[in-house]
Amino acid sequence: MDFKYRLQNHFLKFKTPFAIAHGTRDGTDIVLLYFTAENITAIGEASLPPYLIETKESVHEFINSFFNDFKFTADLNHCLDYLQQYKSGNYAAKACIDIAFHNWFASYKHISVWQLLGLKNTPLPPCTYTIAMGAPDLIRQKVKEAAGFRMIKVKLGGEHDKQIIDTIIDSTDTPLCVDVNQGWKDPDFALDMINWLAERKIVFVEQPLPKSDKNGQQWLFNKSPLPIIADEAVQTIDDIDAVKDFYHGINVKLMKCGGISPGLAMIQKAKSYHKMVLIGSMSETSCGIMAAAQLSSLANWVDLDGPLLASNNPFENVNYENGVLQI
Ligand code: MG
Repeated sequence: MDFKYRLQNHFLKFKTPFAIAHGTRDGTDIVLLYFTAENITAIGEASLPPYLIETKESVHEFINSFFNDFKFTADLNHCLDYLQQYKSGNYAAKACIDIAFHNWFASYKHISVWQLLGLKNTPLPPCTYTIAMGAPDLIRQKVKEAAGFRMIKVKLGGEHDKQIIDTIIDSTDTPLCVDVNQGWKDPDFALDMINWLAERKIVFVEQPLPKSDKNGQQWLFNKSPLPIIADEAVQTIDDIDAVKDFYHGINVKLMKCGGISPGLAMIQKAKSYHKMVLIGSMSETSCGIMAAAQLSSLANWVDLDGPLLASNNPFENVNYENGVLQI
């Protein structure tokens, strides 16, 4: 079947510079793929935060090389298998193509991607609203912007963690979860913080310690009163066995693992170990967010608020009704 494609770069800007334990930045490089066949154009996205290895250039190179060798047939599984075995690494580039393929086949069949995947039409968990690190005035402003959301995710791992949590708790009753982005370097300190957070009824803690500190994380796992979710410590399905005995759950992101199809496989494997699942994202446009959202019915929590934090989302904004991302 004939097809054509084009690639477009986009710099997705944050409304407010976004501060986490890794540092502060203004926006994120994005590559968009427009894939056309049978008069249907489907879009895919690669999001490239600076701490990942992939760049705009590497994504273009991978996608051009892939389509140079690719024969398109109306068989989704064939397309996806070919993609996933095509070269190693390049997860964001693979996610870009994987998302475009899922969108194309869903359009071709006049159904949604979640239906294409055979998922059920069940109530979806609420989506978190993310608040980055900042001074109390900025935090209070962000809490106001989170009105209507039923869960807030707070970035910690800096010098003012308790002040940030106290500021939020003073302003809202909305349940909170926290993401430390590996920012607590000492397991004793991390346990003190988690005990303090547990007294404040925080829902879960994401990646408190550096992913390399396996002994520290094992010790923390055995003592923590709150669920601990692996994010940086788990990238693809191959990492799940290594973390299953010292995290309570995993954060699945399409850009880390290579797209919707590997993301679904990761969720199924995590659930087979009775692990909790958070569906997260990088800073992404509505395209990447809606792709991840198709898997929401399988998750305990959904962390897909990227378009709300961006000032130049090139697509129609996604819709959060009563704090639930509509798919
Ligand atoms: Mg995280």
